[in-house]
Amino acid sequence: MPPARSIPILDLSPEIDGLWDELNSAIQNVLRSGHFIMGQEVRQLEQELASYLGVRHAITLNSGTDALVIGLRALGIGPGDEVITSPFTFFATPESISALGAVPVFVDIDPRTFNLDLNQIEAHITPRTRAILPVHLFGQTAPMDAIMEIAEKHHLLVLEDVAQAMGARHQGRMAGTIGQVGAYSFFPTKNLGAYGDGGLITTDDDAVAETCRMLRAHGSKKKYHNEVLGYNSRLDTMQAAILRVKLPHLEANNTGRRAAAARYDALLADLPGVVTPYVAPGAHHVYHQYTIRVLDDQRDTVQACLAEMGVATMIYYPVPCHRLPVYADLGLSLPVAEQAAQEVLSLPIWPQIDEATQREVADCLRAALI
Ligand SMILES: *Cc1c(COP(=O)(O)O)cnc(C)c1O
Repeated sequence: MPPARSIPILDLSPEIDGLWDELNSAIQNVLRSGHFIMGQEVRQLEQELASYLGVRHAITLNSGTDALVIGLRALGIGPGDEVITSPFTFFATPESISALGAVPVFVDIDPRTFNLDLNQIEAHITPRTRAILPVHLFGQTAPMDAIMEIAEKHHLLVLEDVAQAMGARHQGRMAGTIGQVGAYSFFPTKNLGAYGDGGLITTDDDAVAETCRMLRAHGSKKKYHNEVLGYNSRLDTMQAAILRVKLPHLEANNTGRRAAAARYDALLADLPGVVTPYVAPGAHHVYHQYTIRVLDDQRDTVQACLAEMGVATMIYYPVPCHRLPVYADLGLSLPVAEQAAQEVLSLPIWPQIDEATQREVADCLRAALI
């Protein structure tokens, strides 16, 4: 028997339908211009992003992963350097550190926010530590004021992984603009998503910005005058044109996500065995994901049961990074991240999700828990 309903984890179609004509004319303009790499659209997008985020430099790139790699390299991170980061993140975070020959130093997370545990950072600082790489997981900022304090005290640099949190704030300040560098992703499912790959670096540091611009274009400031080994990491013009249509709607979309989260909070408040998201003081959460904990070893059965009822859910992340085969030889045990990996479940959320759909999700969850 087919399921009575089908609720996806994310529905991009309301936004595409709403912007259909604008998107089409933006795409057609690029086709007619004959310019497909960088160009005017990319420059304009970078200005609009810098102005929205309130930074001196916004440098668009090929992906969020490249933003992490190029951002770290521009900060001078290289072989043998240690970078403190979270084990509870997408693999690209530590991968970017390792790609430079540097060493990711995984520090366990806060069980309430799933972000870096402040109280464990200092114990992991060694003479080789160069930087802290906090991840603003699920759309909620890490405790940036305290992280910046630790960094200043120990002369460390800070690169923020803002892939899931564009538009989030910490104590009123934009995520990604508090540390020396912010690294963002335009992967289609992110809060500001392109229709392909894309990424962004923000910084107020002119020298770092210049290095990033050089690294994204094969290590050259001037074409055919390559100064260092770089990357081909330019944002294509088509994605820039699409992002220029979408950027003006980011704030409203994040407001939609926050309203949806508040509705879930109310709908799930009295569900035993479920912990709804905790919002830290000073955090303006933009709910890239609405992630609950399902207690008592019930998560996998609950997820299977929801799938049978036609409700899609996701597990971000089933294996914390330090337990992935590539990092298994570190032999680390980080119990809070490991428990989170057993309990987290992300529910359907997108800016336009309606209350009736959320009520169905909540009803199915209630039924699945029994
Ligand atoms: C998506 C994501 C990335 C990588 O971004 P891409 O654009 O897919 O390369 C990095 N870190 C986190 C936390 C992410 O969610």
